[in-house]
Amino acid sequence: MKTSIGQGFDEIRDAVRALCAEFPSEYHRRIDEERGYPEEFVDALTKAGWMAALIPEEYGGSGLGLTEASVIMEEINRSGGNSGACHGQMYNMNTLIRHGSEEQRRRYLPKIAAGELRLQSMGVTEPTTGTDTTRIKTRAEKRGDRYVISGQKVWISRVQHSDLMILLARTTPLDQVRKKSEGMSIFIVDIKEAMAKGMTVRPIRNMVNHETNELFFDNLEIPAENLIGEEGQGFKYILTGLNAERVLIAAECIGDGYWFIDKVCDYTRDRQVFGRPIAQNQGVQFPIAESFIEVEAANLMRFEACRLYDAGEPCGAQANMAKYLAAKASWEAANACLQFHGGFGFASEYDVERKFRETRLYQVAPVSTNLILAYVAEHVLDLPKSY
Ligand SMILES: Cc1cc2nc3c(=O)[nH]c(=O)nc-3n(C[C@H](O)[C@H](O)[C@H](O)COP(=O)(O)OP(=O)(O)OC[C@H]3O[C@@H](n4cnc5c(N)ncnc54)[C@H](O)[C@@H]3O)c2cc1C
Repeated sequence: MKTSIGQGFDEIRDAVRALCAEFPSEYHRRIDEERGYPEEFVDALTKAGWMAALIPEEYGGSGLGLTEASVIMEEINRSGGNSGACHGQMYNMNTLIRHGSEEQRRRYLPKIAAGELRLQSMGVTEPTTGTDTTRIKTRAEKRGDRYVISGQKVWISRVQHSDLMILLARTTPLDQVRKKSEGMSIFIVDIKEAMAKGMTVRPIRNMVNHETNELFFDNLEIPAENLIGEEGQGFKYILTGLNAERVLIAAECIGDGYWFIDKVCDYTRDRQVFGRPIAQNQGVQFPIAESFIEVEAANLMRFEACRLYDAGEPCGAQANMAKYLAAKASWEAANACLQFHGGFGFASEYDVERKFRETRLYQVAPVSTNLILAYVAEHVLDLPKSY
């Protein structure tokens, strides 16, 4: 496969590829079958410093940008792995770096960089409000030097494999704010401490091997100093993380897309039916070529979104569009890959069905394609808000 997009990161790509090569498909397949967590893989990424890519050098990280972080995530997925086990740290990081106090940065970042702490979880979604985030019902009430948290979250990932979580809660009731995006705050929550003091974690078994949970908060007390930034401005801060998340997911989908295309090209070149390789049929070639074109186009948007994010410029539109294009392209590539493996696409040992399930998630989470279309309609095309 020849692609010229995203060149210039050879050193990072080569190093991440070499690390990923130590964890071949058999490893990821076994973890998937056992519904386990790729502990050794995440540890290796942490020890090699990749999970601290975004942490500034003065706090022990490598001070790289989102562009480089996205290359790391892309390479993990391109190798046959799934960044879903560890990408949380990448997209949560800038929320803490950009909006946390100097004291919070000093307290957490060096330990995260050293691999002593993991910041893998972000708690936003709630069962009764779904995508309508400003209506969240989880409350954080200030009482002296504590906040007391009650409410419920759903689909909160990697809680059991993280030490810290960034949690969004309402600090001012919806009917008392000027704008519905105001009155929410973000907190850094020590997960183990919280589990001992009022937070219950209930795992959700799901289609992908993705550790995700329901969370229940029953008067959980956390120190007031765990508030990130100013009280009431949390929604604005969390958007920094969400834009990063969209760009990183786009990169992961692009990694998946290239993986599917490589896999299906290799298979269809070899597979002989009717006395010739199945790849010789245009009915086989065209869907593969089409999905390759779409992955390449998504990749251009992904690097544009990265560029804007790293320059500190507004990138909401590009981050959303990159995620939309990449999730769609990887899904088309996945479909073609499964289809042209015939029956073998369904056999676990080919890894296609696993990657197919994994990449399907990104049409729904972390933001559904419909909501991206609604964002672009409203914020880019100036059409009336539809919800
Ligand atoms: C495996 C997994 C991991 C996740 N991890 C996390 C996590 O770590 N942290 C976290 O906070 N959340 C997480 N999520 C939640 C995820 O972000 C949400 O599932 C997603 O944003 C969709 O929200 P919802 O499920 O409530 O769907 P709903 O809001 O109920 O929407 C359902 C569907 O309806 C459609 N829809 C809704 N509103 C509109 C509208 N106005 N216009 C058009 N169509 C609309 C969309 O197609 C949408 O997919 C995770 C989800 C999954 C499945």
